[in-house]
Formats: sequence, C-alpha cells, structure tokens
Amino acid sequence: MQLLVTGGAGFIGSHFVRRILRADDIERVTVLDALTYAGNKGNLGQAFLSPKLEFVTGDICDAALVDDLMARHTAVVHFAAESHVDRSFTTAGTFVTTNVIGTQTVADAAMRHGIAKFVHVSTDEVYGPLLEGVATEDYPLRPTVPYAASKAASDLIALSYWQTYGAPVCVTRSSNNYGPNQHPEKIIPLFVTRLLRGEQVTLHDQGQHVRNWLHVEDNCAGIELVLRLGTPGEAYNIGGGTDLSSKELAAELLRICGVGWDRVTYIPDRLSNDLRYAMDWGKLAALGYRPACDFKAGLEETADWYVRNPDRWAPLSRSPLPAVPSPRTASSPVKERLYA
Ligand code: NAD
Repeated sequence: MQLLVTGGAGFIGSHFVRRILRADDIERVTVLDALTYAGNKGNLGQAFLSPKLEFVTGDICDAALVDDLMARHTAVVHFAAESHVDRSFTTAGTFVTTNVIGTQTVADAAMRHGIAKFVHVSTDEVYGPLLEGVATEDYPLRPTVPYAASKAASDLIALSYWQTYGAPVCVTRSSNNYGPNQHPEKIIPLFVTRLLRGEQVTLHDQGQHVRNWLHVEDNCAGIELVLRLGTPGEAYNIGGGTDLSSKELAAELLRICGVGWDRVTYIPDRLSNDLRYAMDWGKLAALGYRPACDFKAGLEETADWYVRNPDRWAPLSRSPLPAVPSPRTASSPVKERLYA
C-alpha cells in the first residue's frame, strides 16, 4: 500500500504514521502537513529514520499539490484539520476552509485518481450532545459549535463522494483522545503542564461536562482497521475509553500530579459546551476492534511524558516555565520525577 496521510505531524496523525510504518504491506507513507501552530515534525520522531517515510509541507486546500501527491498513492487517511473547539469560537472561517474545503479537495483528488480507500477522520462531536443513551453511526448529526459543524460538513462532503462517484470513502468518529504529543492547549496536557508550572487550572461551570476518553493508540488501531476492512460508504464510531465528567478527570490529574483542589478555579462556562457525548462502537467491534489501553495507566504515562519532555510543550504554552515549581504537597510517580 502507498499511503498518503494528511495532518501526520499533528497529535493523532503522528501516532498513526509511526504505527502504520511498522506494517509489512506498507511500501510508502507520505505525510502532507501544513505545519500550522498544531503541527510539529518532532511528533514523528524516529519515524524519519524509515526509508518509507516522505514528508511534504503543504496545504490540503492546494488542489494542484494534493492532486500531484494523490497520483502516487493507493490510499489516503485524512487527519488534517483545525481541531480546537475554543479556537473555532473566534476563527470559524479557518475551520470551514481547512475542514470543509480541505476535505473536499482531498476527496476530489482521491476520486479522480481511483484511490482504493479514503479514510476521513472525524469526531463524536458531530452528533452533538446526548443527555441519555448512545449514538450509533446513523444518529442525526446535530453539531453545536463551529468546530463540530465543520467536521459534520466534512463527513457529509466525504460520504457524498461515495454516493455520487463511488469513491471508497469511510469515516471514523472517535471520542476524545489522550496520549503523548498532544498540543498543550487541549484539556489533559493543559492541566498537566499548568500544574507542573505551579499554576492554577480551571474548570468550566461545575465541571459537569462528560466526555469519553480514548487512548490515541486505541484510536489509531481502530483507524487502521477501517483502512483495511471498512466498508466503503460507512461511518465507524471509535470509542470504548472511560466516561468522565471534567471534574472527575480533574480529580485523576490532581492525584497523578500530587496536588490538591486548591489548585482548581471554577470559571463561567464557555460560549457553548455540550453536556455529554456518548457513542456505540459495536459496528467497529464487529470488525475486531477492542480498545486495549487501561485509562489510569495511560493517563499516568501521558502525564509522565509531559514531565519528561518540557522542550516539546513549553515553547507552545503561553507563559514561561517558572524557575521554582510549586511545593510538593503529596507523593505521586509524576511528581517524584518532577522534583528528582
Ligand atoms: P492536531 O490539531 O493535533 O493536528 C492537526 C494537523 O493538521 C497538524 O499537524 C496541522 O499542521 C495539520 N493541518 C492543519 N491545517 C492543515 C492544512 N490546511 N493543510 C495541511 N495540514 C494541515 O489534531 P488531532 O488532535 O491530531 O486531530 C486529528 C484529526 O482527528 C482531526 O481531523 C480531528 O478533527 C480528529 N479528531 C480529534 C480528536 C481528539 O481528541 N484530538 C477526537 C476526534 C477526532
């Protein structure tokens, strides 16, 4: 397989590239990434040692470039997107351009070059909030924020290329990912890096918003399964992690970092904040998907990664590292290493 991966310098894309390079049937992986504020070649690390990897810096909205690259590949996994909900409140236009026009540009080239499989990577946020029950893949799309709306639009654009042209499109919709390499603007790294700096962390409203937390490696396993076995024209939910309110998540992170609730400040809710997402992922389970990562162990390893790699996240965070970290208030594996 000659695989084009868009957004492969981002959080999930970089884990996927490192994973797929290990497969014997992968002859070439080309990463197309614009290296926005969210992209970082460092996320690919040792992958650059592979002779199978090529890196192209470029925009998915550049139709000529995408067309040129698609001609040399047999499959595409499309991660590239604007991915941060809070940013979509102020720069919705960028989200529409990248997520909608960009996806249409990639789908168009995939269709014209007769690509064997086009996996479009999406999110459970397209279903909008569910106060009870779970969303299967045919649940109505009711996104509430510009990010989720642009992803819902991109799902429909991608799937329309199956309906209209028979392009073999699959869509994956995963819950919230966690793991190493995530940009420090996202909640788990934001909490950990702020606590490491001795700063306060914040919870919206009463911290009641529920998300399903999925280890990035489990998501990548699910995406690979869809790449290999997914039926064209179908969407696949990828979940099965741990459901937590943001207050419950904060409790875990405070425990791991060995600090108390005095480090948490409650702030008014953001402009729009869906109360709960929940999905059924039985369709992918029928293809053999089983999430394998233990949440507590995965979260501790993730926090530990941020302790050991300040060079990777400190330049991306807003404020400089303080000279003296906050005093030790309780023991934890992460904190032991921090103060060692
Ligand atoms: P990310 O923000 O970490 O990475 C996005 C990558 O896309 C970056 O490397 C960036 O440089 C690149 N990019 C952005 N605009 C581009 C453009 N115009 N042309 C080429 N490259 C461009 O995002 P992520 O968290 O890795 O998410 C990857 C995909 O998974 C996204 O489509 C996102 O919607 C989806 N998703 C993410 C999560 C999550 O929890 N992070 C959950 C569900 C779905």
